[in-house]
Amino acid sequence: MANLSPLLKQATPVVVARGEGVYLYDQDDRRYLDFTAGIGVTSTGHCHPRVVAAAQEQVATLIHGQYTTVMHRPLLTLTERLGEVLPERLDSVFFSNSGSEAVEAALRLARHATARPNIVVFHGSFHGRTIGAASMTTSGTKFRAGFSPIMGGVAVSPFPTAYRYGWDEQTATEFALRELDYLLATVTAPAETAAFLVEPVLGEGGYVPANTAFMEGLRERADRHGILLVVDEVQTGWGRTGRFWGHDHFGVQPDILITAKGLASGFPLSAIAAPADLMAKAWPGSQGGTYGGNAVACAAAIATLDVIRDEGLVDNARVVGAALSAGLEKVAANTAGIGDVRGLGLMLGNEFITADGQPDPTTAQRAQQKAAELGLLLLTCGPFGNVVRMIPALVVTKEQVEDALAIWAAAVDFATS
Ligand code: PMP
Repeated sequence: MANLSPLLKQATPVVVARGEGVYLYDQDDRRYLDFTAGIGVTSTGHCHPRVVAAAQEQVATLIHGQYTTVMHRPLLTLTERLGEVLPERLDSVFFSNSGSEAVEAALRLARHATARPNIVVFHGSFHGRTIGAASMTTSGTKFRAGFSPIMGGVAVSPFPTAYRYGWDEQTATEFALRELDYLLATVTAPAETAAFLVEPVLGEGGYVPANTAFMEGLRERADRHGILLVVDEVQTGWGRTGRFWGHDHFGVQPDILITAKGLASGFPLSAIAAPADLMAKAWPGSQGGTYGGNAVACAAAIATLDVIRDEGLVDNARVVGAALSAGLEKVAANTAGIGDVRGLGLMLGNEFITADGQPDPTTAQRAQQKAAELGLLLLTCGPFGNVVRMIPALVVTKEQVEDALAIWAAAVDFATS
């Protein structure tokens, strides 16, 4: 008999048997409100009937086409259909399996296309766990420590994390852009800088939204220096933030977009999108893989796109997200230990602090554990693990949000008393 590796750390002891919509059921058929959605993946809810039907039909037709050997219909159809949601300029798409792989693909493309070595990332970033992606991850030493040497050519600039600095957003943004200019003058010359890689909302780094002035500042500097603006929409894409893409909030156009998670409702699938002439700067065969653009995953992604459109899930994320945010604010107003509630759409975080304003992971984790006991599954995030995040499926209703808020209030009460 083999055992599961202790390398895995699990946020709850729950063993699930099945899922339906925003609910998960354990082996004893106990029901949980799932406000983790597989880390922001099951955007259409668990086992949406249309996603299930599309995947079942595809399984019985063709499971694996292998896109460097033969092309297959689901991949071609999905590629065409992505034109409905991608920024118009980003008309060329390359598929892989996970967020990390897509980040690696964007990294290679950026280096190829610019013939420049360095990437600037923003403090608190999470881009994945492969060595390249982990080297661009700055949301916790646990993602980097102990397996050095990591990849070179990565420079870190501040993200406008106003709350952490105790500043207003404008001050934090001006600081971040000034430091970026300083970095370009002192560490990575523009002529050696391939890309700015940025999350529209810091995800694992604590659910901190960027803002328009910051993103415009990046765009302006990217244009001025011939640097590519790469947005990592792995967690923020597919309606999660109440707009289809996270960067839609800021009116700034990226040069490369990275997507995964919500794209295929739980099947492993990721993609990067860029203008065709930029993609053409790397040679055919410079990227690939055995499983990228799997036929069943592509069929599920097409169904996901249909469900998001037909059920108005982007609007639902905005409207129900606002209700959730208002409810969380109310809980926070009664709780000295919750210093900040923030986020966009259905991507919301609650930051726990001690009486003297320091990060308080202990109470955050007590609240998260108690919520799980009471039937609400949640995750923590943030460099100090003191932010409890809420990322339910985009099909969540106001009634389900009310149920979750009642449990949350009780869990916070327990954790802080
Ligand atoms: N980028 C971001 C913004 C993410 O949130 C994640 C996953 N949390 C990744 C990349 C890595 O994705 P994966 O775990 O699928 O490799």
